[in-house]
Amino acid sequence: SKQSVYEPLTENGAISLTVRLGLFPEGAPLTCREIGDGNLNLVFHVVDQQTGKGVIIKQALPYAKVVGESWPLTLKRAVIESNALRTFASYVPEYVPNVYYSDESLAITVMEDLSHLQIARKGLIEGKTYPLLSKHIGEFIAKTLFYTSDFGMNQQQKKQLSQQFVNPELCKITEDLVFTDPFFDYETNNFEQELRNDVEALWNDDTLHLEVAKLKRKFLTEGDALIHGDLHTGSIFASDTETKVIDPEFAFYGPFGFDIGQFFANLLLNALSRPEPQQEPLLAHVEQTWGVFTNVFSDLWDRHNVEPYAKTPGLLQDVLRQTFVDAIGFAGCEVIRRTIGLAHVADLDGIEDKNKRIYAKRRALHLGKNLILQRRVLNDVQEIRALFLQTF
Ligand code: ADP
Ligand code: MG
Ligand code: MG
Ligand code: MG
Repeated sequence: SKQSVYEPLTENGAISLTVRLGLFPEGAPLTCREIGDGNLNLVFHVVDQQTGKGVIIKQALPYAKVVGESWPLTLKRAVIESNALRTFASYVPEYVPNVYYSDESLAITVMEDLSHLQIARKGLIEGKTYPLLSKHIGEFIAKTLFYTSDFGMNQQQKKQLSQQFVNPELCKITEDLVFTDPFFDYETNNFEQELRNDVEALWNDDTLHLEVAKLKRKFLTEGDALIHGDLHTGSIFASDTETKVIDPEFAFYGPFGFDIGQFFANLLLNALSRPEPQQEPLLAHVEQTWGVFTNVFSDLWDRHNVEPYAKTPGLLQDVLRQTFVDAIGFAGCEVIRRTIGLAHVADLDGIEDKNKRIYAKRRALHLGKNLILQRRVLNDVQEIRALFLQTF
């Protein structure tokens, strides 16, 4: 087969590719639209107008566009993304889009069209609650983490697998944007002047710096399992009955607590954007995510653990406790960086009344700091709710 040379696809090129792959019948009336957010990747939606059936082609761009500037970014992330989707599919096919085809030189992943679902962040902002979201995500995280860890797979194979997911450039984005820049007076930060006193307090807080530095070190050094690496509510498609995780281009072998922490944080950010009576379903999702995660992970541990120390009393409890404490700390970093860092969330930025928006963001900064500083004194997941409700 001929070696393709990278070039960005056009809409017609995307249509031709789906025909060449035999994804549609010959002569089908196909249309195509580019539907991506336009910062890092192209996303083409090809639809057969006769049957309504669609296909998605995601293509990485060789640069990232951020506020007018642009810097080079490895195309290898497309391979990471398609490999991660396939690896996840081997454990939880019900929670990821089916991958039909991928091409490393074109940096593309051709996958199942999920347009019948909605991006969870958008639905949550509209006030939806997605009753099964936390059950599904808790199960997704428990299974992907367990089976790709030294507890769930042959430990030599795990070392081999982890080499497919060496992802230094995308990890660097997280190291900078989640764990570093928001905690210093760096140019990437972006916040309303009304928040300046609160932000400067974070920049001058040595106690906070020490705890964030410890969390960053975990992210840099701990390779527990294949993590998604960008599991916010914008990477999740949902309905009342279905949940699908997309966009694992940040996947790598990282700490157990990271995906749980990012998911918690984005639930809490949405809760902060809502009037009080409507916050409850989000807090319930945080609890249910942790409950389902621990049940499923513990069950897999009992039945499928390959580690000779598996039955040693206290080991599972130690792993779960450490994961819980880390997840809360990572959640705190994510809440802060989504409030004052480079990449915000529409949940908070979309609050139209300026006073309400500033108030919600100030609460977010306090919540984030409290999550980081108090993570070790929280005994169980109900105490996250208490901490949230106590954050003035
Ligand atoms: P990025 O890495 O650029 O954030 P995403 O994978 O998150 O790219 O996709 C960007 C957008 O493209 C999503 O928010 C969604 O609207 C659309 N999209 C991505 N994958 C699919 C899919 N499988 N089915 C339908 N729409 C999709
Ligand atoms: Mg995006
Ligand atoms: Mg995305
Ligand atoms: Mg992405």
